Amino acid sequence: MKDQLFIDGAYVAGASGEMFDVIDPSNREVFHKVACGNAEDIDTAVAAARRAFDEGPWPRMSGAERAVILRKMGDEIEARTDELARMEVQDNGKPLPEAVWDIEDTAGVFHFYADLAERLDNSAEQEIALGMKGFTSKAVKEPVGVAGAIIPWNFPMLMASVKIAPALAAGCTMVLKPSELTPVTALEFGEIATKAGLPKGVLNIVTGFGAVAGKPLTEHAGVDKLAFTGSVPTGSRIMATAARDIKTISLELGGKSPMVVFADTPIDEAVEWIMFGIFWNQGEVCSATSRVLVEAPIYDAIKERLAKEAQKIKIGHGLEEGVLLGPLVSQSQHEKVLNWIETGKKEARLMTGGGVPEGLEGGCYVEPTIFVDVPEGATIWTDEIFGPVVCVKSFETEDEAIRLANDSRFGLGAAVMSADLDRAERVARAFRAGIVWINCSQPTFTEAPWGGYKQSGIGRELGEWGLNNYFETKQITTWDAHKPWGWYIKE
Ligand code: NAD
Repeated sequence: MKDQLFIDGAYVAGASGEMFDVIDPSNREVFHKVACGNAEDIDTAVAAARRAFDEGPWPRMSGAERAVILRKMGDEIEARTDELARMEVQDNGKPLPEAVWDIEDTAGVFHFYADLAERLDNSAEQEIALGMKGFTSKAVKEPVGVAGAIIPWNFPMLMASVKIAPALAAGCTMVLKPSELTPVTALEFGEIATKAGLPKGVLNIVTGFGAVAGKPLTEHAGVDKLAFTGSVPTGSRIMATAARDIKTISLELGGKSPMVVFADTPIDEAVEWIMFGIFWNQGEVCSATSRVLVEAPIYDAIKERLAKEAQKIKIGHGLEEGVLLGPLVSQSQHEKVLNWIETGKKEARLMTGGGVPEGLEGGCYVEPTIFVDVPEGATIWTDEIFGPVVCVKSFETEDEAIRLANDSRFGLGAAVMSADLDRAERVARAFRAGIVWINCSQPTFTEAPWGGYKQSGIGRELGEWGLNNYFETKQITTWDAHKPWGWYIKE
């Protein structure tokens, strides 16, 4: 496991020489230490990224040339899937099959953006039809410059890839600041990039805390674009900082996503997707469908079956066979979620869960927790908990379901389940959310746009939208008439 910063193509010690603890949430023990980057390290990293952008080969290479290196990075990640997934389990707590899935997706993201980089050679320029004779014009996509990326801890390597791969495909250079809670796999990108032949300075990784390493990155005059994923309060601060220097930003923030289940949905299917929507990745998912609205005729049946199935989920260490719920990421997240559960007990009816599982007190574990009959104004209904805690409530009509679903300051995900596909489509379009699932919840594809309405963010990642985040558009207009303009100087 790496423990140093990756700057200008080499692993280097941090300027302060300080290290911080990396903790395994399954037993709260320190398993590693990594360099605690600060403003000086950010300065060095941005200078390297700046040089690589202003003078280096990367932005000047063809898309096809960049694609070769991106593809090699994807291949290297793929070849190391098991090892990287095990690191992720120790760092984040998630069950191994989910970590394997994350790493496979991470490799897939590099392969996908390699393809898009290749296509840029034919698509980065577009002729513009002008309404005046004598001129020709074209729009040219150019890399925006040095990108600063700041990411959270819930999908550590995958979140990094969703920023690194499109930025590099576009020809940008980058400084990445991973979460202080999960820095381990992000640092591996240094070795992966070097092995693939990425020129030095194109990708730089500075581990450290938000206020010490993240903030100077957002404030740095050498950064042209900020790409952030994390909480609304941090996103808001970053937006304010970016406003000062008019930096381009994209923000992927929190959510409190609704799932509407109509009475014509088979109970089995509804319960399966409700569970996947909130218990997958310990509910530490920005788009988790944590507010479930069930049509009255099946409300009791759903509640009972959901509680029964939730109690069957095997909780434990992420490497243990059959485990589908690991520990939460950290002691502070554990305390935060348990506090939310205490609040919930005062606001609604606790149907099942709510405690620390017996025998697992040494780790940051929480039982799958279901609150029912949750009133509209309850804070557990309106605020993001970011843990395996679901709020369930009944509704009578389609209009009521849509009103309740949209009554949120967030607008990231939303799901609807119904055997009537016309109705499902109608409800999908009525949702004020950036990602809508019909008859499922959470499956995420690299090809499709990802991002939120309202306080859930600005801009879209993934797919071609993710690539477009890292471009400036330049118009090049030519006076092509081969005769004098004739405004001041008449013939
Ligand atoms: P967070 O906002 O606390 O931290 C995110 C990152 O920002 C970390 O790397 C942190 O060090 C850094 N940071 C903190 N303060 C900073 C500052 N002042 N300046 C610059 N950087 C700073 O969020 P978190 O707890 O790591 O992640 C959980 C949140 O992320 C949840 O709200 C979740 O919904 C959201 N999230 C959103 C998406 C999405 O795609 N929309 C995906 C995953 C997580």
